[in-house]
Amino acid sequence: MSTDAGTAPVLRMEAVRKSFGTSLVLRGVDLEVAPHTVTALIGASGSGKSTLLRCANLLEEVDDGAIFLDGEEITDPRADADAVRRRIGVVFQAYNLFPHLTVLQNITLAPRRVHGLSRARAEADARELLERLGLGAKADEYPDRLSGGQQQRAAIVRALAVRPRLLLLDEITAALDPELVGEVLGLVREVKEDGMTMVIATHEMAFAREVADQVCFLDAGVVLERGTPEAVFGTPREERTQRFLRRIV
Ligand code: ADP
Ligand code: MG
Repeated sequence: MSTDAGTAPVLRMEAVRKSFGTSLVLRGVDLEVAPHTVTALIGASGSGKSTLLRCANLLEEVDDGAIFLDGEEITDPRADADAVRRRIGVVFQAYNLFPHLTVLQNITLAPRRVHGLSRARAEADARELLERLGLGAKADEYPDRLSGGQQQRAAIVRALAVRPRLLLLDEITAALDPELVGEVLGLVREVKEDGMTMVIATHEMAFAREVADQVCFLDAGVVLERGTPEAVFGTPREERTQRFLRRIV
């Protein structure tokens, strides 16, 4: 254990490149995510936000560059991809929950199967987490009985149940009716208060501005501009960032 474990980046990307066929999607991405911070990834559709998150979770293999989780190179071919994924929670835009399992069963699946917790222990932990995050009454419901907002909240709870080192959220409110967005973002706020390290791809600019410690503007596969929310939203340096923000805000 190094002495700077308290402040050393949880996630670090160095010159990450990724193509699909002939299309170069990540053209040398550098990123550093400090412990207990929230990084918001903003940028136009197709700029590479999802690909970046998928590379971080080893759902995509990078072509070049390196990714480190707690200082350990996870893009090393000898790294144990399953072990890495156990340390990283992911929630996507939609369809995160298994429809044939109750909320409680969804949440206890990984703690039981992957982490070897007893059923009783996993269920007690899950009920406590659901209770704390305002979903206690939904534990025994099937996902199709929940609103989209409740489903996304349950998906976040499921990702947290294995106590990940890092949580990746990819446009988790994009498929929701506008009136349901607030409750999901509210939960993300609480998760931040608990100190979770997160990387969030989002089109919710007001939310990014409020919750993020660091904002990264992706443009055509590179982090074109990064900084505090005040800097990136308030006084963007790059002309392309200014144009993007004018269009979207
Ligand atoms: P964003 O999340 O910012 O909208 P993506 O990472 O989803 O951007 O996509 C970036 C580019 O990569 C897009 O042009 C998209 O079409 C392309 N892309 C993403 N995934 C694949 C894939 N599996 N195969 C081919 N092209 C892909
Ligand atoms: Mg995307």
